[in-house]
Amino acid sequence: MKTIIEPFKIKAVEPIRFTTKEERTTLLKKAGYNPFSIHADDVLIDLLTDSGTSAMSSEQWAGIMLGDESYAGSKSFYKFDSAVKKITGLKNVIPTHQGRASEKILFTVLGGKGKYFCSNTHFDTTRANVEYSGAEAVDFMTEVGKHPEMKADFKGNMDTEALESFIKKTGAENIPLVLMTVTNNSGGGQPVSMQNIKDARKICDKYGIPFFLDACRFAENAYFIKRREKGYENKSPLEIAQEMFSYVDGCTMSAKKDAFANIGGFLAMNDDNIAMLCRNLLIVTEGFTTYGGLAGRDLEAIAQGLVEILDEHYLEYRIRCVEYLGEKLVNNNVPILEPPGGHAIYLDAIRFAPHIPQYQFPGQSIVCELYLEGGIRACEIGSVMFGKDLPDGTHISPAMELVRMAIPRRVYTQSHFDYMIEVIIDVYNQRKNLRGMKITEEAPMLRHFTAKFDYVD
Ligand SMILES: *Cc1c(COP(=O)(O)O)cnc(C)c1O
Repeated sequence: MKTIIEPFKIKAVEPIRFTTKEERTTLLKKAGYNPFSIHADDVLIDLLTDSGTSAMSSEQWAGIMLGDESYAGSKSFYKFDSAVKKITGLKNVIPTHQGRASEKILFTVLGGKGKYFCSNTHFDTTRANVEYSGAEAVDFMTEVGKHPEMKADFKGNMDTEALESFIKKTGAENIPLVLMTVTNNSGGGQPVSMQNIKDARKICDKYGIPFFLDACRFAENAYFIKRREKGYENKSPLEIAQEMFSYVDGCTMSAKKDAFANIGGFLAMNDDNIAMLCRNLLIVTEGFTTYGGLAGRDLEAIAQGLVEILDEHYLEYRIRCVEYLGEKLVNNNVPILEPPGGHAIYLDAIRFAPHIPQYQFPGQSIVCELYLEGGIRACEIGSVMFGKDLPDGTHISPAMELVRMAIPRRVYTQSHFDYMIEVIIDVYNQRKNLRGMKITEEAPMLRHFTAKFDYVD
C-alpha cells in the first residue's frame, strides 16, 4: 500500500512564530502555568483543541461570499437546513453559535433539580450545562473504556447494562434524556459501535426515554464503524452516518468539529413540542430561528463542511494522521491511550509520570513541559478538568489522567507530526524531572480554563 497523503493542496498559508526556550519559560510563568492563558502567537504547534481550528476549503471560503445575511428566511439557512437533514433525517434543525449553546438550550428546557442525564461520557461543557440547570450528569463508560492500556475496537461504548439498572433504580420519569457522545471525546476520542447505539436505543424505547447523539465527531465515528464493525465495510461514511442518526430522536452538534467550520453548531430533533420550546429560548439567547447566533456566511461554510467531512479520502487521511502519531510514540515506549482515537492522541499521565500523585496534577506538569521543550500546546484532561475537592480536603480523581493532543483538521503536515513526535519523546526521556503542581487560583466551574498553577516545592 502507498503512503496515505493529504487529500488537498495548500492554497493559503499562515506563518508560525518561533520562540526560544528562555522566552517560553517566561511566557509560561506569566500564564500561571496554564496553556489556556498563553497567547496563540507564542505557540509553535497548537494542539489545544480541534475545535474551530480546521482549515476551511476553497469551496467553503467561496460559500462565505455567497452568505445571505437576511434576518429571516436566509437562503443560506435553507442550504444549511437541508445539509443537516440529509445526514440526520431529523425534522427540526435549530442553528446555534456553537455546541454548548445547543446544550444550554436543551438542558434548560429538559433539565432542572431532581433530573438525571445519562451518557457514555458527558463532555465537560455538556456536564457543566446539565449541572447548571440543577440536574445531574451520570456517565456509563464500559470497563475497557476506563483502561488506557487496554485495546478494543469501540472503547467509547456505553455500558448499557449499567444504564438499564440506573434507570430502574432512578425511575424513567426522572431521566429526560440519554445522550450518546460520538466519538467519546472525554473517553479518549474513542468510537461507539452501531451495535451499542442500537442497544441504547432499545433500552430508551423500553422505558420511554428520548435518545440523542452528541454528534460533534459523527463522521470520524462513522469511519471507525466502517473500518471495524462487521457488515459496514462496503457502506459509505454518509450511509453509516445516516444509519447512526436513524436510531436517535435528536442531537446536539458543534460545527467546530466535524463540519470544518470556525464557528457554529446546531440542535436537531423530531419532537415538535420540545423544538418549539427550544426555538423560543433560542430567540431570547441566540437569535432568530433561521440564524441562531450565526451569520449567513457561517451557515454556508457549515453546509459545505458537512459534505466534505464525509469524503472517504479525507476520513482515511484524518484517522491515519492520528494513528501515525500514536504508532511512533508507542514504538518509543511513550504510554498513550490505545488504540488512538479519531481526533487526538492522549498521553497516559499516570504511566508517563508515575512519581507524581494524581492530586499533584501529573498531566498539567507534562503539558507545561511540552510547551517549554518544543512550543507545543496540549490540554490536561484529568484531575484539573474533572477532579473534585471535598470539603474535608480529600481529592477525588477521575478514572484516567490524560494529556490530550488534539489534531486540528487539515492544518498540519507530516513534518509537523514528525516534529511533535521528537518533542514528546524528548519530554518522555526526561520524565524523571517532571514536578508535581498545585492550583493557586480557580473558578467554581470549568476551572481548567482559567486556573493558575505553580510547582510544588
Ligand atoms: C466541543 C464539544 C462540545 C461543545 O461544543 P462547543 O462548540 O465547543 O461549544 C460538546 N460535546 C463534545 C463531545 C465536544 O467535543
